[in-house]
Amino acid sequence: MNSKFELIYEGKAKKVFAHEDSDKVIIEFKDDATAFNALKKAKFEGKGELNCLISSKIFEFLIKNKIPTHYLGLQNNNSMIAQKIKIIPLEVVLRNTAYGSLCKQTLIKPGSVLESPLIDFYLKNDDLNDPLITKDRINLLKIINNEELEFISEMTLKINKLLKTFFFNIKLNLVDFKLEFGRNIKGEIVLGDEISPDNCRLWDLSQKNGTIVSLDKDRFRNDLGGFIEAYSEISKRINNFI
Ligand code: UDP
Repeated sequence: MNSKFELIYEGKAKKVFAHEDSDKVIIEFKDDATAFNALKKAKFEGKGELNCLISSKIFEFLIKNKIPTHYLGLQNNNSMIAQKIKIIPLEVVLRNTAYGSLCKQTLIKPGSVLESPLIDFYLKNDDLNDPLITKDRINLLKIINNEELEFISEMTLKINKLLKTFFFNIKLNLVDFKLEFGRNIKGEIVLGDEISPDNCRLWDLSQKNGTIVSLDKDRFRNDLGGFIEAYSEISKRINNFI
């Protein structure tokens, strides 16, 4: 579809193409799903389109609320136009409820609501398996300075407040999510990547009996079935709400 543009990067879930304006790129969302650093892989027809449309709606909502992001608009249903950015090699995870790796690495019980949001930084490096990284190590590696780290943390907390409400309105509990930031051509730090059920844990609040119903990538990670149905449900709820 984007064959007339030069492919400049291909990741696990997205391809990035050059745009005719040198300060922009086209991001195409693939149908591939991967988990456990791509040890587990599958293709789900329609996933790329769902994640692109979900992400675009969320970026639009964040931009309306004064969050700087790379998003500029949709190119088509599975591609978006974005500012060209240099990704900062950190995965910024914010947790409202304990689940996943936090529970594997500590004695916190899965499902425990955290007293205040927890931010964890991971080094974005597949060869090293994205290890958890401390602020001092971020300093040591000169990835970003203290002020920038502070800015990213504050932005992440603001995004959490906005997204918690956004998802609560469509009966979803935002358990945790992963963000990536980058620097645009002007040197400004902006939110990049995507915001979708691939990198957010979303639990269905319309279940009355208190059981955990994941409407996110955990359906794939944990072989729960109904993967594309869960993503479609998120997209449907967002579209009905907006
Ligand atoms: N996450 C992500 N990419 C990663 C690792 C985690 O998008 O490479 C997201 C994941 O979907 C979840 C949150 O970050 O919403 C926290 O994930 P966790 O650290 O619990 O890791 P997991 O249990 O998924 O291995």
